[in-house]
Parts: sequence; C-alpha cells; structure tokens
Amino acid sequence: MKIDKKGMLLIVSGPSGVGKGTLVEILRKYDPNFKLSCSVTTRDPRPGEIEGVHYHFITDETYDQMLADNAFLEHALVHGNRYGTPRKPVNEMLARGLDVILEIDPQGAISVMENLRPDEYVSVFILPPSYKVLRERLTARNTEEPDVIERRMNNARAEIAKLDRYQYAIINDKICTAFDELLHIVKAEKRRTIRYMPEIPEE
Ligand code: 5GP
Repeated sequence: MKIDKKGMLLIVSGPSGVGKGTLVEILRKYDPNFKLSCSVTTRDPRPGEIEGVHYHFITDETYDQMLADNAFLEHALVHGNRYGTPRKPVNEMLARGLDVILEIDPQGAISVMENLRPDEYVSVFILPPSYKVLRERLTARNTEEPDVIERRMNNARAEIAKLDRYQYAIINDKICTAFDELLHIVKAEKRRTIRYMPEIPEE
C-alpha cells in the first residue's frame, strides 16, 4: 500500500515559440493524472479556441475584480494581453492528489516560484536549440508581424538570461528527446518522499 501525499505542481515555462505547449500535451496524454490549470485571459478567443478548455475568456472588469479578491496564484501582462492562474482550482486539484501543470510565461513562472517554497513546485525551463531556430519557429507560425517576432526574440534573450531561477532546463531540439527528458524529471520528482511514502507490508 502506498500513501500519496499532495499532487505535484509542475511549472513548464520558456520563451514564446519554444514548444512548451506540445511537450505539455504529450505529457498529459502519457499520464492523465496531470491536469492543466485553465488560465484566464482578457484577449479575444482565436478561431477554434474553446471557453473553459483553452482559457476562460474574461473582461477587464472581471480580471480587475479577481485581482482585488487576491484570486490569482500569479498574473502577468504577456505581449500586451492580461493572463492569470486562478489559485483555488489549482489548490483543490493538488489536495485531491492530482498533478497540476502550469504552462505559463517566464514572468508568471518566476512569480509563482517567489511565492512558494522550492519543495512546493517543480520548475522546468524549455530552451530552443539556437536563437536561429527560435526565430524560424516564430516565423513559421505565420500569425505574427515581423516587428512582433523581433520583440519576442528580444524577450526570449531576457527570459533565457534568468534560466538559473529554474530547477531544470531542457533543450527542445527534437521533441521526442525533450519529452524523454521531461519524463525522467517527472518520474524522479514523483518518487521524492515529500510526495511518495510507501508503506511496506509485513508479507
Ligand atoms: P497565447 O495568448 O498565445 O495563448 O499565450 C501567450 C503566452 O501567455 C504564452 O507564453 C503562454 O504560456 C502565456 N500564458 C498563458 N496563460 C498564462 C497564465 O495564466 N499566466 C501567465 N503568466 N502566462 C500565461
């Protein structure tokens, strides 16, 4: 018999375009105990995005009210839009023994890490194999104007300069290798005694 304590709060962050969304998607398929925290945002939904699945799309007024109520675990202005992680559902899922993934931008990740003890989270920073490849990935998305891409490249350099704030780093060159590394981290972290306390039967 084993006693599982609280679930794991897994922070997956990295510059825009680095592929963190894909890694998180594969992890959730591999291990359904990982649940994604559904963020709120004040930006408009993109075609195909579903309320309550991709985000809760809220108004500025609701966002302000949530700020006033201290309802956010973290919140940030990312590329001109407001995002936040509601605190309550995350804590409820962790208390039920579920693992919760926060796929958030580096400002949000650092703010969560500053507000919690290091043993309360696992933080992973995803890196591109080179700045050239990152630029290619941002360009291939085809959704952004050239000046937006330049701004994201500059942001990426500043974000990568703070890599030492994270517990783990993964270079996302080949997605299967990057996922394999993420899985090793997650599996090791699940066996830390703060999360896992097996009881050994007599027989
Ligand atoms: P998008 O608008 O393209 O879905 O997301 C833009 C950026 O916002 C991404 O880097 C994404 O990780 C980040 N993001 C999404 N939700 C949150 C959140 O709740 N908090 C923070 N800090 N960043 C978020």
